[in-house]
Amino acid sequence: MPRPEIESWLRKRFFPHIWCPGCGHGVILHALLRALVSCGKKKEETVIASGIGCSSRMPGYIDACTVHTTHGRSLAFATGIKLANPSLTVVDVMGDGDCSAIGGNHFIHACRRNIDITAIVMNNNIYGMTGGQASPTTPPGSKATTAPYGVVDPPFDICKLAVGAGATYVARTTIANPVMCEKYIKTAIEHKGFSVVEIVSSCHTQYGRRNKRRTPVDNLNYLKAASVPLAKAKEMSEEELLGKITVGEFVKVDKPEYTEMYDKVIEAAGGKSHE
Ligand code: SF4
Ligand code: MG
Repeated sequence: MPRPEIESWLRKRFFPHIWCPGCGHGVILHALLRALVSCGKKKEETVIASGIGCSSRMPGYIDACTVHTTHGRSLAFATGIKLANPSLTVVDVMGDGDCSAIGGNHFIHACRRNIDITAIVMNNNIYGMTGGQASPTTPPGSKATTAPYGVVDPPFDICKLAVGAGATYVARTTIANPVMCEKYIKTAIEHKGFSVVEIVSSCHTQYGRRNKRRTPVDNLNYLKAASVPLAKAKEMSEEELLGKITVGEFVKVDKPEYTEMYDKVIEAAGGKSHE
């Protein structure tokens, strides 16, 4: 059972959840709740947004202000919410396809604006809910329903994409390390600016069973073995890093935040800012 202060953030009437037993997303839900509690956040001042997919069922289980939106568009909703009331803590949870395929455009533009939203990308390398289609993060050679002989498309690196587009806090870990999941989410929430935490999750049902990792334990063992801390990864060649997951904090910089810049525009136009 979770600690009472964590449990109080659960919308228990919607349990049991719909996730397959052993799905990695539950680890991320718990880490997010621990981070929110640790940051001292209040439910009525916290917004959790999502798009569509297994990952995006998460807000339904959280007793805060939640919004389950359209596929790939949750960052557009989250941006509107944050602009309307910048004092809110806004967290957007999304899957790999949701973030980097359908919502790719919203993602890169949220990064460049540096709006104070925390994006948690739950990357299980597959479209889980819709039946195991390859996503932009499916590793080359992996099998999917849309790639029965193996994926040939080079994948996106979500963190490199976020850094390149201008996000001011970017970190990656995996569900095999719940302590780091909580730590990076907490840092992201406390960071003033657009923060991206990619958490490599596990979907044994759609990805694992087609790729020789049939059970949740197989996936956990893989994630542990494949993880390479950033400092060590910097000393490795590209060939040595093939199939590995570089984990750590890639960027943490301070830059002007979007809602604060926008308040100045409102003032210049004779309107009333949020101050
Ligand atoms: Fe999790 Fe995959 Fe099941 Fe979706 S299909 S709930 S991602 S294990
Ligand atoms: Mg996915």
